[in-house]
Amino acid sequence: MIGVYGGTFDPVHYGHLRTALEVKEALTLDQVRFIPCRLPPHRQRPSVPSEARRHMLEVALTDAPPEFVLDPRELERTGPSYMVDTLASLRAEVEDRPLCLILGLDAFRDLPAWHRWETIFDLAHVVVMTRPGYSSRWPAPLKDQVTVRVSEEKPGLPATPAGKIYFQPVTQLDISATFIRQCLAAGRDPRYLLPPGVLALIRRKGYYRNPLS
Ligand code: ATP
Repeated sequence: MIGVYGGTFDPVHYGHLRTALEVKEALTLDQVRFIPCRLPPHRQRPSVPSEARRHMLEVALTDAPPEFVLDPRELERTGPSYMVDTLASLRAEVEDRPLCLILGLDAFRDLPAWHRWETIFDLAHVVVMTRPGYSSRWPAPLKDQVTVRVSEEKPGLPATPAGKIYFQPVTQLDISATFIRQCLAAGRDPRYLLPPGVLALIRRKGYYRNPLS
């Protein structure tokens, strides 16, 4: 099975990396593809350009497990980075192999606002990671999908290429890119929340110094 971990990674932090590792181990994923988005359709523009976010991710993955892979396909596409398009292009490459879209609880809750969100279930399973501060109450259309698609059993996932929802507990790390950006803008030190190489790159390039970013 192939994991798909999308995000703005503005910047990448241990909340992304540790949870990805735990999901990889829990579901025995063959690969976790980190897919930075170029232009997020549902939120503010990222604070730094895509190439900077990609570079930080490359640095973060230098000593990562071999199954962690940077996948730049959204950066290479024009227009908004719709996950449904990303999954469709991956599906064309991997044929019938199961794809698992890995989402934090916050991202999952917002899923009904995503472009062609119901088609996502035709293309991938959705693995939802628990996240501090977010309850598991969701809007009605999502609740309906959960009722129909939830898989209580991990072994259910590899049996089909797509279509199930699975809730994966992960170690609760209350780390967000927002908090790291705020620390940097305020001149505070965000070390221990993200890989030291990524922080060194941020400092060298002067990213996130502007309080408005
Ligand atoms: P921001 O603070 O800018 O909104 P973020 O820290 O949420 O950013 P994103 O790159 O937007 O990071 O998140 C990508 C994915 O990673 C989302 O599915 C999100 O839910 C998940 N994620 C991010 N941080 C954590 C965390 N600490 N624990 C679990 N999941 C996380």
